[in-house]
Amino acid sequence: MINFSENLHSVIEKIEKARLKVNAHHIVKIIAVSKYSNSGDIEKLYFSGQRGYGENRVQDLKAKSKELNELPIEWHFIGRLQKNKINHLIELEPFLMHSLDSFELAKDLDSRLKVKDKKMDCLLQINSAKEESKAGVVPEVAIEEFNKIKESCSSINLTGVMTIGANSEDRDKIKNSFEVTKAIFDKLDTKYCSMGMSSDYELAIECGSNLVRIGGALFKQ
Ligand SMILES: *Cc1c(COP(=O)(O)O)cnc(C)c1O
Repeated sequence: MINFSENLHSVIEKIEKARLKVNAHHIVKIIAVSKYSNSGDIEKLYFSGQRGYGENRVQDLKAKSKELNELPIEWHFIGRLQKNKINHLIELEPFLMHSLDSFELAKDLDSRLKVKDKKMDCLLQINSAKEESKAGVVPEVAIEEFNKIKESCSSINLTGVMTIGANSEDRDKIKNSFEVTKAIFDKLDTKYCSMGMSSDYELAIECGSNLVRIGGALFKQ
């Protein structure tokens, strides 16, 4: 049996400690990453008080949001978006798309949004540690790409940046990837700095994250 309430409260307690190190007005939003969980578990966590959920596959987002359509859940898309899934994602009207990872994808998404006369709130994903395995724009061009998307994709509402911390045992490397992203965020005058997962969310918050994406720590046994 998973004790959802205990998991959630333990995460909130740790977030409180971390965010207060930044300052008393630094508010952090939690997205529960439900990609390895079923609708039954999402519902239980929902009734413990968690409202925002993130999925990394369009099919899973579709299936779970349908199964749980009675609940006013705020759904986030956090995964790699394949071209052939763009229309499906638009139909699902996610609250926020965290993983806009190139100008090309932005152009494709924008033109499909225009056809459907819809808008989407998105974050620009930054490959802050320049890892082969990760999507996103490299830090050097992030501001330029952000402004380019803002100027030429009028159906996309860019509301911030997202990064996945460096895949490393070395805390300094992870910290550096968060600091690099926060420095870009600060130059943009935008709303969300989405960074931090189960293994590194306290560090991410101390580096300035205001949106954490937490899976394992909320859904663990
Ligand atoms: C899976 C995933 C998370 C959550 O990871 P946990 O380690 O389970 O907290 C966060 N962000 C993205 C983009 C993910 O794919």
